[in-house]
Amino acid sequence: MSLTGKTALITGASRGIGHAILLGLAAMGATVVGTATSDKGTKLITDALAAKVYAGGAVVMDVRDDNSVAAALAAVEEGYGAPAIVVNNAGITADNLFLRMKMEEWQSVLDANLTALYRVTKPCLRAMLKAHWGRIINISSVVGISGNPGQANYCASKAGVIGFSKSLAQEVASRNITVNVVAPGFIGTDMTNVLSEEQQTQLKKSIPMQRVGTPEEIAAVVCFLASPGASYITGETIQVNGGMYMQ
Ligand code: NAP
Repeated sequence: MSLTGKTALITGASRGIGHAILLGLAAMGATVVGTATSDKGTKLITDALAAKVYAGGAVVMDVRDDNSVAAALAAVEEGYGAPAIVVNNAGITADNLFLRMKMEEWQSVLDANLTALYRVTKPCLRAMLKAHWGRIINISSVVGISGNPGQANYCASKAGVIGFSKSLAQEVASRNITVNVVAPGFIGTDMTNVLSEEQQTQLKKSIPMQRVGTPEEIAAVVCFLASPGASYITGETIQVNGGMYMQ
């Protein structure tokens, strides 16, 4: 299961699911580079890596900004080598009923959750194609499959992640590059902590396992998809949701 010698890029690794993925891939021997939107976030990443004596570092990247992504990717390549593993994890919500949804709320969510995959993945592909090895793992959501009232923008972006991944998987499979999706359910992070206690209780009732998932439970599946053991899996979406939604 070792990833020694591979560089892994994880967007949005300062906290939550991305942070757990960062530590999970590092534990498997990868040199990990996590991104955050601020110096405060990159410090959280480098401190966590230093505490465990893991190889890697952090860069500032705003996935909505072409120039920021380009500068960050250049720094990653120079400092750690071209990523062989890319985890597109950074994501945001801006919930509203569709009739009340402002264009800004629609646009910002589509930009951060979906268009970011274009910005980050495309420049990273060249080195993977050359190396005849690559792992691209994109984080969607259960609601990208089921839909959810109040989240038309978020659900559209997360459904788009799945369609994108299936298409790219078919384009690059012959070069030994896999493209897969992990679709988490309700996971305990800052993103879900903003929900009221009542909303959280209601949500838990809809989960057969009757609890929220942990970031580590998502990271475990990402780590598997990055590992040599998953070499024949591509274009797949793995749901990790405690039974909340079953296809
Ligand atoms: P989170 O705790 O809110 O963390 C979000 C991460 O994304 C942070 O590292 C943040 O960086 C980064 N980020 C936000 N906007 C960014 C931008 N414009 N450019 C670059 N990075 C940005 O979220 P999470 O719950 O861990 O979610 C991670 C992924 O899982 C997201 O794609 C989310 O949609 C998906 N997901 C989450 C759940 C859940 O229940 N939590 C369920 C399904 C899917 P800063 O710290 O610098 O702000």
